[in-house]
Amino acid sequence: MITAHPGLPEFDYIKPTTLKEASTFLAQHTGAARAFSGGTDTFVRMRDGVWQDKYLVDVKGLPGLNDLKFDPASGLTVGAAVNMNRLIASPEVNEHYPVLAEAAHTVASYQLRTRATIAGNICNASPAGDTVGACLVLDAQVHVHGVDGERVEPLRTFFKGPGKTVLKAGDIVTAIELPIPPKGAQGKYIKLGRNAIGDLAIVGVTAFGYPDRTPAGYRFFVALASVAPTLLLLDMALLSEKPITPELIDKAADVAMNAVTPIDDVRGSARYRKLMVRNLTRKALSDVWEKLKK
Ligand SMILES: Cc1cc2nc3c(=O)[nH]c(=O)nc-3n(C[C@H](O)[C@H](O)[C@H](O)COP(=O)(O)OP(=O)(O)OC[C@H]3O[C@@H](n4cnc5c(N)ncnc54)[C@H](O)[C@@H]3O)c2cc1C
Repeated sequence: MITAHPGLPEFDYIKPTTLKEASTFLAQHTGAARAFSGGTDTFVRMRDGVWQDKYLVDVKGLPGLNDLKFDPASGLTVGAAVNMNRLIASPEVNEHYPVLAEAAHTVASYQLRTRATIAGNICNASPAGDTVGACLVLDAQVHVHGVDGERVEPLRTFFKGPGKTVLKAGDIVTAIELPIPPKGAQGKYIKLGRNAIGDLAIVGVTAFGYPDRTPAGYRFFVALASVAPTLLLLDMALLSEKPITPELIDKAADVAMNAVTPIDDVRGSARYRKLMVRNLTRKALSDVWEKLKK
């Protein structure tokens, strides 16, 4: 229930020092305890009475969760507690994963990004998550610590519905890992919001392309936010089949529009969203194509 005068309810603050301790506590208090990183979704939802957890488990101080590491052979590891401003300021992220920095930069405000994390953006499983599309096209892997130890979940099969993921009781995301992008890859994120900052996407389009051994010489992916129960990742096979032209990009934008199943809400109607998917997909793919041709 959302109250007109919300206030943060009472809860116990738990600060474990080891991953084992954290997973055990969360598993022993299933349904009553929640892990949090930046807390930017958690505390709003608690305040509004949407979540009523008795225990909030702060995972920010756990070993390794603040690591931001780049290895030229294996790629980028973003610890679950690394805030978005730190990510955006990273020279390695800007050089090798600029589309992730671009997407993170559209999240809320500078102040909020000093807390918000991409792990939180992913675990929150909102169809509007701004950084999720970049992580999908970059083929992110989610590192998880659970009561049975460590495992890795591909992001592409991580979401089960709005607010729902494959995470189980006791699971803590420790890091998001991004492999080295294909050579020459280019990306673009376009967010349509009601205002320039601080609002969720009405539509978010991530386009990503790279040279590949296809008849067209390239391969493209598009990830779409706020237009389906979870983010949609589309393999734009059409753009691999024959030489790319503006008309073919138009057709690819139609494919994207026909793939989405948006709803009407306070931010926009389903019809508006569909049309914006077509327009912004065309724009994002054209931008990527221009960069690839250079
Ligand atoms: C004013 C405002 C504006 C916003 N604007 C945007 C926006 O423009 N775009 C956007 O995408 N989002 C926006 N958000 C939502 C939010 O800031 C993001 O989703 C953010 O990335 C969440 O990260 P966090 O670390 O704060 O998550 P938290 O609140 O810590 O956690 C979010 C969810 O993930 C789970 N979780 C967090 N960390 C872990 C972990 N390590 N292991 C397991 N589960 C975990 C929590 O249990 C919770 O369910 C906004 C929020 C506010 C309050």
